[in-house]
Amino acid sequence: MNYEYLKDNLELVNSKIDEACKRSGRNRDEITLIAVSKTIDEDIINESIKYGVEHIGENKVQEIQRKYNNIDPVKWHLIGHLQTNKVKYIIDKVELIHSCDSLKLAKEISHRAKQHDLTANVLVQINVADEEQKFGIDADHFYNLLDEIDKLENIKVKGLMNIAPFDLDSENVRKYFKQMKDIFDSVKNRSYNNIEMKYLSMGMTNDYEVAIEEGANMLRIGTGIYGKRDYSK
Ligand SMILES: *Cc1c(COP(=O)(O)O)cnc(C)c1O
Repeated sequence: MNYEYLKDNLELVNSKIDEACKRSGRNRDEITLIAVSKTIDEDIINESIKYGVEHIGENKVQEIQRKYNNIDPVKWHLIGHLQTNKVKYIIDKVELIHSCDSLKLAKEISHRAKQHDLTANVLVQINVADEEQKFGIDADHFYNLLDEIDKLENIKVKGLMNIAPFDLDSENVRKYFKQMKDIFDSVKNRSYNNIEMKYLSMGMTNDYEVAIEEGANMLRIGTGIYGKRDYSK
């Protein structure tokens, strides 16, 4: 197999990240690139790690379980919806859970982390665009959720995550990224024990340049690195 395309794709993505950083006066060093490897085979993921990928993102618990022992050392991110009954399978495997969106889930994460004697790092997923999406807490209930999570042990909130609605014209989702950045900054001005606004996870293949311009510092890019996904396998 020839994996040169991975090198080319990564170079292209990285140069676009650099350019977006320059345009918006951002420092490239503060941006974390997560290669989203859902549906991608282990040998390809390992090859991408050789080309410099340090963080990988998966959206399904089963897929992390299946791949975990076959992947070279890398930081794992759970970026998809997490069911409460599956927390126990990944709690000791992932660096960051991006999709904490309810108190019930936060409590289970806290409970399982305690059993493993560790502190789980999570992002709170906010659904700013509302209408279509099922997952993520809506902005109205968000502060309430933060206050409750702040009381739990063995869990720390490290920032926020958002999935913008798909739009061929990424300019149309700029407003959602702006809203996210406003919420991110407003939380910074409050005082909490276990909550810190360090990471703002937003921006996918279609919209990551706009996301950077609006303040994202964690990007989740799949197609742009691995190519189009084949869901038929
Ligand atoms: C699949 C996925 C991505 C990456 O999507 P691409 O458009 O392929 O870059 C990012 N975030 C989440 C939550 C995903 O499920």
